[in-house]
Amino acid sequence: MMLLKSPAEIEVMREAGRITASALRVVGEAVVPGVTTAQLDEIAAEHIRKEGGKPAFLGYRGFPATLCVSVNDEVVHGIPGKRRLREGDIVSVDCGVVVDGYYGDAAMTFPVGRVSDEARRLMDVTRDALDAAIARCRPGMRLGDVGNAVQTVVERAGFSVVREYVGHGIGRSMHEEPQVPNFGRAGTGMTLRPGTVLAIEPMVNAGGYAVRSLDDGWTVVTADGSLSAHFEHTVAITEDGPSILTLER
Ligand code: MG
Ligand code: MG
Repeated sequence: MMLLKSPAEIEVMREAGRITASALRVVGEAVVPGVTTAQLDEIAAEHIRKEGGKPAFLGYRGFPATLCVSVNDEVVHGIPGKRRLREGDIVSVDCGVVVDGYYGDAAMTFPVGRVSDEARRLMDVTRDALDAAIARCRPGMRLGDVGNAVQTVVERAGFSVVREYVGHGIGRSMHEEPQVPNFGRAGTGMTLRPGTVLAIEPMVNAGGYAVRSLDDGWTVVTADGSLSAHFEHTVAITEDGPSILTLER
C-alpha cells in the first residue's frame, strides 16, 4: 500500500531533504585526492547534527556509518573506511537524514580531480536519466513511465541499468511501498497521485547490469568491474507536478 503525504508532512520532509542536500554539498567540497572515505563520513555526520537532523543510515539494519560511499566499480552501500580517494576515481555518496520522524534520501557521484571521458559521460547520463524520471512525476503518470524514462536515457547512451536494486517510496520510513525500478514499460504500474513521495535513484553501469555483493555484507560492485554511477532525489508529486525535496533552497 502506498502512503500519501499531506502538504504539512511534505514540508517536514523538505527540511529533512534540505539537510540531506547540504550534507552532500559539504561532502562534495571535500572530495579531493588523498581524502579517506571515513573522513567524508565524519564531515557528513558533523554537518547533519549541526543542522538539527539525524543520520538515517547509521544503525539501519546494522549499517555502521552515516554515508554509503562507493568508489569506481562499487555501485551502492560502500562502507566508509581507510580507503584514500585517488585522482581519476569517481565516488558515489548516498546520504539519508531524519527530521521529526520523516526521511530524506539523496545521492550524487563526484569526480575526484580529473576523470576519464567515459567516467564523465557516465555521471552526466545518470544525472540526465534522473532528471528525465523526475519530469514524469505528475499526477496520472504511472510508475512504469518513471522507470522507462531512466532506462531509455541510459540505454540510448550505451550504458546499463542495475536491476537488483531500485528506488522506493519514502516518508516516516526510509523504505516504503512502492518499489521504484529504473526500468519498465511506459503506461504500466501504479498511478502517481498528489502526495506520493518517491526516492528515485538510477544506478548505472558503464558495462553490463549484473552486480554482486562483497564479503563485508554490504558493498555492491559491478560483476564485470566496470564503473558505476548513482544519483538520487526524494521527489513529491503535487498537483503542479514534481517537487524535489532534496534541494537546499
Ligand atoms: Mg539513498
Ligand atoms: Mg534511496
